[in-house]
Amino acid sequence: MTALAAQLRHARDHVPHYQTSLQGLEITAANAASVLGRLPLLRRSDIRTARARLWSSAGTADGWRTVRTSGTTGTPLEVVLDETAQHAERATLNRLVTDVLGTTARTVFHLVLHASARTRTSVFPDPPATRLVKWNLSRAWALPDATFVRCLQELDGQVVTAMPSVMAALADRVGESAVRPALVVLSGETVTSWVRDVVARTFGCPVVTMYAIAEFGIVGLGCANGYHASEDVVLDIVDDTGTPAAEGEVIVTSLTNRAMPLLRYVTGDRARWDAEPCECGASRRFRLLDTRSVRVVAAAGTPHPLTSLEIAKLTANLDVEKVAVHQDATGSVVVHYQADPPPDTSTLSMVAASVRAALGPATAVRFAEGQPSPGDPQPVAQVRPPSEPHRIAGWVRGVLDGIDGIRAAVLTGSALSPETFTRYSDVDLVVLAEDDRPLWRELAKSMHTHVKGLRANFATAADLVESPLLRARLLSERLPITGDLTRAGVTWPTKDELGAQASFWSQNAKAALWTRATSQETTPDPIQSAYLAAKLAVDALRYHYLLRDLPTTVPATLLAQAEEDELPPLPGIRHTLAIATERTPPPPPGSPDIEAFTFEARAAIDWLLR
Ligand SMILES: [Zn+2]
Repeated sequence: MTALAAQLRHARDHVPHYQTSLQGLEITAANAASVLGRLPLLRRSDIRTARARLWSSAGTADGWRTVRTSGTTGTPLEVVLDETAQHAERATLNRLVTDVLGTTARTVFHLVLHASARTRTSVFPDPPATRLVKWNLSRAWALPDATFVRCLQELDGQVVTAMPSVMAALADRVGESAVRPALVVLSGETVTSWVRDVVARTFGCPVVTMYAIAEFGIVGLGCANGYHASEDVVLDIVDDTGTPAAEGEVIVTSLTNRAMPLLRYVTGDRARWDAEPCECGASRRFRLLDTRSVRVVAAAGTPHPLTSLEIAKLTANLDVEKVAVHQDATGSVVVHYQADPPPDTSTLSMVAASVRAALGPATAVRFAEGQPSPGDPQPVAQVRPPSEPHRIAGWVRGVLDGIDGIRAAVLTGSALSPETFTRYSDVDLVVLAEDDRPLWRELAKSMHTHVKGLRANFATAADLVESPLLRARLLSERLPITGDLTRAGVTWPTKDELGAQASFWSQNAKAALWTRATSQETTPDPIQSAYLAAKLAVDALRYHYLLRDLPTTVPATLLAQAEEDELPPLPGIRHTLAIATERTPPPPPGSPDIEAFTFEARAAIDWLLR
């Protein structure tokens, strides 16, 4: 209890929130446990109220990391972890990996399917040069099955961590295909043995479980169907009065985090101590119970019914709010959702995959907007358009309908093509107007407010004369909204026009890449650097082939042609595109690899346009 005594003394001396409850107490290794037992429980609402009063006034905030927990209800909670706590979490994971594989992992992949999560690679000194890759697969998920599986083969022989719902969704999608990690670590929510078996069978590797909560990290290590408490925490199970009990709420005290020590924190999970000692000889073992306010919402005659808790955790993970699930008379599972903006099709396909992972692969899954209506039909929620191009097109059509002076409108840009769609890509709207009017500016502003990532550009045919590449792109990469571009006066550019623009463009593009690669001011997101490099390299590819009479600018067609022609810059362009679109993990921020692919893109522009 030396570690606990040290943590309690730290809280008494340096954390305002505890100064009253621990004031003047002599804390020793011998009495630490009983001092802790007399402290009041710390609930999420207490953390919101106390806020910075839970932060340590000693030491500096260097290396503190803020974690924001989503939870299944209410506003997110912010907790800060210091470097020691972060190090302890990695050390625990390393011990777990070493126990199973007999060797440490050089790379650990943490997989997420959450549209807004950032993909990034971090390098740690302990053990030397360990990489942690947080990989958001939601973009790759939109790819065809075979391509998606090829992306996942990056995981072969590696250690993978993920929430059970994420691994279950991946198992459902991957099926019989060969993706073979060395080890899968499931964490973050209750793991049923059914999900563990599906994951083990699909990925053909050992599966271990951790009990982790965002505000602490790893608090329990899986053993048989239960868990042992991590040595970095004091874990207890208490009844409603805070008294230790055989079954009740899990409360946890951090022994490592001095930045914001959470003492007797109520996790919101329920558990039961095992009566018998564990065969492994470790401390007491507990089992998590997922019975808290959980209803079975669908069964579909399968080994594992779907509960409301699983639905809540799944949807917290997928950017879908207000989901209700029920089973209709035919046994189909109906997922009702309300989200603003509505989820895109790849999110819905992930939800469907997770439902099938729970209820069996043959389960029919339907989606319906709005809440299920017990009696009278209820009005469907007013929703804003999603970021999916064809739905944006439908919305823009409605906005432009009946407005005078518009000859044609199309969506264009890399968002139209899964080959080039990145988190930084805009959806470009080009509206061909008869003349310039003040109304266009107002329309563009209101559209920008309404749809994130939309860039509305109003122009006349005369405005586009000076933009030959844009004209070619409008005529070959477009999602029509209204009117006809050719009749509106947009013409295919001549080679002379393109050649003149290309040499001017390549100077600017190379200068932009040079500035990016040599800038010392900030450490940009590697994915953003890859996006810029890939975007310019693909434009160079467009000029290259347009000048050689291939009348298209569609990236997939150009890449296939470049493959056939064995163009030397192609492998570099493909690699940079894969990073930009998150099909492959990026290098860590500040890595020389980023400078390398930026200069490679520069060389590609030179080669393609010489
Ligand atoms: Zn055990």
